[in-house]
Amino acid sequence: MNKQVEKVQISGIRRFAEKVKNVDGAISLTIGQPDFCVPEKVSEAMINAIKTNKTTYTSNAGIDELREEICTYLKTFEIEYSKDEICVTVGGSEGLYSVLFALMNKGDKILIPGPAYPAYENISIMIGAEVVNYGLNENFTLNINEIRAKLKNEDIKYLILSFPSNPTGAILSKEQRDELVELIKEKDIIVITDEMYSAIIFDDYYSVAQAKEIKDKIIYVSGFSKIFSMTGLRIGYVACPEKYMKEIIKVHQYGVSCAPSISQYGALEGLKSSLEDVEHMRKKFERRKDYCMNRLKQLNLEVAEPRGAFYIFPSIKKFNMISEEFCEKLLNEGKLACVPGTAFGELGEGYMRISYCYSDETLKEAFDRLGNFLKSNFPNY
Ligand code: PLP
Repeated sequence: MNKQVEKVQISGIRRFAEKVKNVDGAISLTIGQPDFCVPEKVSEAMINAIKTNKTTYTSNAGIDELREEICTYLKTFEIEYSKDEICVTVGGSEGLYSVLFALMNKGDKILIPGPAYPAYENISIMIGAEVVNYGLNENFTLNINEIRAKLKNEDIKYLILSFPSNPTGAILSKEQRDELVELIKEKDIIVITDEMYSAIIFDDYYSVAQAKEIKDKIIYVSGFSKIFSMTGLRIGYVACPEKYMKEIIKVHQYGVSCAPSISQYGALEGLKSSLEDVEHMRKKFERRKDYCMNRLKQLNLEVAEPRGAFYIFPSIKKFNMISEEFCEKLLNEGKLACVPGTAFGELGEGYMRISYCYSDETLKEAFDRLGNFLKSNFPNY
């Protein structure tokens, strides 16, 4: 077996989601799959793609029309790439994998936020890179001084940014974006910005990818799994300058050849005609976020208000249990599944992730259960 692969574990999010199946009557708030259907026009486009035999390989980087449309879409966020700087991938996951594999050598150092989406750290370990974690502010926003301090180590060559964040819902403010851009200018690093949730944001959007003066240091990863509620259809993309793309495309080609053709036509139609559905979904998530905030506050739990994505990350430190044990007990006794914070790295200890992409009724029942569980197990908290 590959020794590096043996060093990583299956994702804690999945592991916990699987446990729910064995607990009768449990409610799960574990998975990041929006509870909306794929927009109708996206479904129709995919059915049409099958009927018209658009079921063959596409070019490795994806169909031209989709790559063009991604450029037009990114422009609405003030991010500029040309078609040849886009590669359509098998979900954001393959995008991240191909990028990190193309960039890194064994022993290279990469700066990764904690807590964070677990793929960054685990892919890096599989490649044999050395992970250096950076902590965040108490409300999970970017702590520029922490990054600056870590980058004093000249060996660090890569920086991962992840906004809006899974698991915390934190985003980047204008001030933080501007400070980051200045820092990136000074340093000899490559920045990978994972913006899977950029369309699900409850505030103004800012990204280092908007800064043209550092474009040659930025690799942008995103996708359609969340915004078109098409997690199983596996379409993501990478946008970056040619010098990186020419290497990334090799990893992509030998790994997957191309992203699924049918789904590419679906995503293309989604960008052309379903952005209103995305806006509808975004508003609904914002209302649910407000509902979760209220319920958590009523339960006297400390929580930072998310500004994007569809996750909330309350502190469970006051219960003096490690997060894995707390979530296990909550599942078995309270019949409610949330993901232990440590599924997002060591810096997630003391928290749990609640995914609120579930119906209003499910959320209400889930918070009722959480309240009953806390009352019976920690009467004096
Ligand atoms: N990046 C982040 C921050 C995510 O939360 C996810 C999925 O949950 C991904 C990337 C991977 O997305 P995909 O399902 O398109 O592979």
